[in-house]
Amino acid sequence: SMDGDDEEIEDAEKFRLEAKIAQEEARVKSIEQTRKSLPVYKYRNQLIDAVKKYPVLIVVGETGSGKTTQLPQYLYEAGFAKGLRIGCTQPRRVAATAVAVRVADEVGTKLGDRVGYSVRFDDKTTDKTVIKYMTDGMLLREFMSDPDLSGYSVMMVDEAHERTLHTDILLGLLKEISTQRADFRLLISSATMDAEKFSAYFNDAPIFNIPGRRFPVAIHYTMQPEANYLHAATTTVFQIHLSQGPGDILVFLTGQDEIETMATNLRNTAEKLAGQMPLELIVCPIYANLPPEKQKLIFAPTPKKSRKVVLATNIAETSLTINGIAYVVDSGFVKEDIYSPATGMQALTVVPCSHASADQRAGRAGRTGPGKCFRLYTKWAFSHEMPASSTPEILRANLSGVVLQMMSLGISDLIHFDFLDAPAPEALIKALEQLYALGALNEKGELTRVGRMMADLPCDPMLAKCLITGGDLKCCKEVISVVAMLEESGALFYKGAEEAANSVEKFRSRSKAKLGGDHLTLLEIWQEFVEAGFSVQWCRDNYLQYRSLNRARNVRNQLEKLCRRLGLEEGEEESGKIEDEDDKDRKRIRVMKSITSGFFSNAAKLSRSGESYQTLKKHQSVWIHPSSALFKMKPPVRLVIYNELVLTSKEFMRNCMPITEKWLKEYAPHYYGRSRE
Ligand code: ADP
Ligand code: MG
Repeated sequence: SMDGDDEEIEDAEKFRLEAKIAQEEARVKSIEQTRKSLPVYKYRNQLIDAVKKYPVLIVVGETGSGKTTQLPQYLYEAGFAKGLRIGCTQPRRVAATAVAVRVADEVGTKLGDRVGYSVRFDDKTTDKTVIKYMTDGMLLREFMSDPDLSGYSVMMVDEAHERTLHTDILLGLLKEISTQRADFRLLISSATMDAEKFSAYFNDAPIFNIPGRRFPVAIHYTMQPEANYLHAATTTVFQIHLSQGPGDILVFLTGQDEIETMATNLRNTAEKLAGQMPLELIVCPIYANLPPEKQKLIFAPTPKKSRKVVLATNIAETSLTINGIAYVVDSGFVKEDIYSPATGMQALTVVPCSHASADQRAGRAGRTGPGKCFRLYTKWAFSHEMPASSTPEILRANLSGVVLQMMSLGISDLIHFDFLDAPAPEALIKALEQLYALGALNEKGELTRVGRMMADLPCDPMLAKCLITGGDLKCCKEVISVVAMLEESGALFYKGAEEAANSVEKFRSRSKAKLGGDHLTLLEIWQEFVEAGFSVQWCRDNYLQYRSLNRARNVRNQLEKLCRRLGLEEGEEESGKIEDEDDKDRKRIRVMKSITSGFFSNAAKLSRSGESYQTLKKHQSVWIHPSSALFKMKPPVRLVIYNELVLTSKEFMRNCMPITEKWLKEYAPHYYGRSRE
């Protein structure tokens, strides 16, 4: 009977193994089927031939036709890697990571093995990686260590029509490389816009058109303007859900805050209506800070007897394709980082999106069958208030970051750089002035030692300067913490709960926010998180989002490595050493001075009315953001610097810190000296 048992066990093993093999075969088959069903598949061989023949190829195709996920695989399968890498850039990190996850799955490898991604502060590649997805900003950084891109045999600049600042600079640099390296292949891929322009720029490079399929989409406008598009969007989703046939819904909003608010609204209302709804409503938000497991949900097939509603930003316009969408709800807005060279002010602003965007958004409803698009604006607003296309970022952005990077690549003649659209000379000059004020350039306009260090740090020149001064003032560790926390400052506390508001106040009083503002409150939260051993429970007890703090921890670790490499932490005590109160206070001042050394251009002083502030340089009116520790402080702080400006009903300064005139004189003598003359 012993033998019989053994046999049974063997049978069970065999059965499990066979089941596993069958499962794997089914998976491979279904992936194969999916890949073959994409519009791009029919053109596989023609595409490969075209890449063989032409050093630069423009590829144009409807969103969802398979450009991003398939082209790098085709080239890899056809042997284009030649021991090097095939790269593909994306304007947004969510797109780079989500697509890499998908392609790793299709190729049948672990992420980071043959397929990987690299985005700022998160690198999932190894020596084995052949297909590499990355943000355009990361590739620009790679130029600093490998100016010929000798590690790549093919580069695909994807979503080129988005015309982000980094993509535009890359186009110029890659154009140069494609004339120097005969073995190098460049693909520029874009949704259906702008192909002629790219072709002309690349000396009439051929355009490969992938005919897409797009079903008709009925457009509905509102009769009256909507006062609150978030509210209107929620109502519209339920109207669709209760009155329309099957098919998922995609809602376009402008940012994480809105997406989270609307997700909560939808879930609450769905709960109340639970008995009356024919289908269950599954709410799937997507934004950059969402953990990958949750991001994956938007792609999961919708279960029977339910309807998915995806809440997204313009990322879902062309970068990510979600299958099964039959209804689109379009807010008609987009968030842009708008910079005015005249005032030197940069603000995150919600603005009407372009006709091109609105058309792309509507198109998402017509991929698998006829669809409907509900625009939360009037037809009149569409034709009178929305621009035909959006302005390329290079024509409206603050250029100091890319100018610094270009200079560190040895490109000093910026005026004659071969831009697709050249920025205004004033904008370049403004950038040079800012870099000079930050000490990155000397009087002759050459990069200084500080400037070189700044270029090595993967953050905005102003933040980089803070870190370097932190090194000089022996408080680099603390400045790193502030910088890492600033990135997460919008999503630290649970929203809405009264207890969360109390928790904020506790941290503010412990950090003496009256003196140190939001920056030192962030430092306090970080330090207590460290003392609590990075505990999840501690976060819960304090109404803090563990996930945000954990991300800050990751960013902090990476920044610390870089700072150490630049020798910025030399001579600083090991953290954990007990300091007395005086020591601590002195260090606080040094941290604040370090931050002032980078952000002096964002200084504003209290106006005579005592309500608003005026920027020191251009006398623009600005207000302290209600979320700031310094909001409605009595007596109000006289002089502040802010981290960023957010334009909603007013120009709000978010994350503010009190400073003194003396620090400004010490750290920005040129900047404030001249304007007074
Ligand atoms: P294009 O770049 O031409 O817009 P893609 O290559 O992004 O097209 O998309 C091709 C197909 O792959 C689409 O059907 C899309 O839904 C699917 N896809 C893309 N990314 C993912 C993902 N992360 N998970 C599941 N499916 C995905
Ligand atoms: Mg794509």
